[in-house]
Amino acid sequence: MNALPSVEVSQSPEEKFREYLTSRPRAQRYTSQQRDMVQYIFSKHNHFDADELIDEMKGKGFRVSRATVYRTLNKLVDAGLLRRINLGERTVFEHDYGYAQHDHLYCEQCSSMIEFQDPQLEKLIQDVCAQQSFHNLGHTFIIRGLCATCHRARTTKRRLDLV
Ligand SMILES: [Zn+2]
Ligand SMILES: [Zn+2]
Repeated sequence: MNALPSVEVSQSPEEKFREYLTSRPRAQRYTSQQRDMVQYIFSKHNHFDADELIDEMKGKGFRVSRATVYRTLNKLVDAGLLRRINLGERTVFEHDYGYAQHDHLYCEQCSSMIEFQDPQLEKLIQDVCAQQSFHNLGHTFIIRGLCATCHRARTTKRRLDLV
């Protein structure tokens, strides 16, 4: 996947998460499983669901429990490090910290997520919010459909079916 340029941030994801844990009403411990997860997740930009993360991390030899992964993903969203994207049958996560604001094209055939940035779309969203005196805390904009490869495969198949 083509990653967008990263955004300069003052704290590392780990520092930010540790700060979040200690600033809770009841300070929480930063466990080694959580550390492994944060390091793993922030080693590359990706769109992943909880099960994919568990499988990948187990494949790399990490010991992660399902319950911890689910709980930690929720905390990472709460801490502003990850963004949750609802795709209907799947919920995926991606970096929301140190990464440029962007939107997505989602292929329903191969599940690929294509990222794009468009200043005109950003401007439109700002204008709509301004008109409604709406305080914008962020948005999720997803275009569903077929990527070029899947679309080509489908039209080729249809053509062959007709022959
Ligand atoms: Zn596709
Ligand atoms: Zn993305």
